[in-house]
Amino acid sequence: MSGLAGKRVMLTGAGKGIGRALAGMLVARGAEVCALTRSAADVAALRDELGIEVVEVDLADAEAARAAARAGLPCDYLINNAGTTELQAFLDTTVEAFDRLIAVNTRAPMIVAQEYARDRIARGLPGAIVNVSSVSSFIGFADHAAYCASKAGLDGLTRVMANELGRRGIRVNAVNPTVTLTPMAVKAWSDPDKAAGMLARIPVGRFATPEEVGEVVLFLLSDAAAMLNGVALPVDGGFMSV
Ligand code: NAP
Repeated sequence: MSGLAGKRVMLTGAGKGIGRALAGMLVARGAEVCALTRSAADVAALRDELGIEVVEVDLADAEAARAAARAGLPCDYLINNAGTTELQAFLDTTVEAFDRLIAVNTRAPMIVAQEYARDRIARGLPGAIVNVSSVSSFIGFADHAAYCASKAGLDGLTRVMANELGRRGIRVNAVNPTVTLTPMAVKAWSDPDKAAGMLARIPVGRFATPEEVGEVVLFLLSDAAAMLNGVALPVDGGFMSV
């Protein structure tokens, strides 16, 4: 995709899965990446293998998230990708798990985007943000109460940001992947019966790859998507359409 060469992109959750794939795709397209991620081993691997700048941070900590975002600025674009999940039946969902998921999946994207957008506006420059949400924002998957709530919240946040920041030249969109073959999917979908039931509902007959999600993220960042603002775009092989 054109337009990324020479651009600096802030990418959260770059250590594994979709974020790791995106980091490689961005570097391959000539972008400069500033990664915000947590595990020390991933921080070292990203520096060694991709040669990118990495800020080690636990995004569940609001102040640390804000400081990490400031440390990585200025950036042309922002991808809020970091996310986490914990499986609990609704009746057993704990306040602690609920708060953890909201902190990482919903609050951290808001904080990082505030810092990114304030900087863009102060410089009088346009921008684009992509929030990595999930089809879980639309569907009430059993055992995913906190996750579904956190991603539905992220979609709501995306729309408000699109409204307010769109007027300042910063487009904001979400991608909403189906099950994607990453370490998180292993955690959430390793039960073969559960995975088979999900697969049966996906017309293309398979789960997504991290690169397939990454391509849509990079499209939404690019000027090719100049009139897209405030969408929650399923990347789901037709799951949401049938
Ligand atoms: P993953 O394989 O678990 O990777 C998530 C990345 O985010 C890791 O590098 C992780 O670092 C980082 N991260 C998580 N919590 C963090 C925190 N508190 N502070 C800093 N970094 C943190 O997940 P993935 O499947 O690639 O998911 C990426 C995004 O796609 C998430 O927002 C997820 O909700 C969304 N999504 C995934 C799927 C799927 O099926 N995989 C489907 C729909 C949407 P650590 O390893 O150190 O925790």
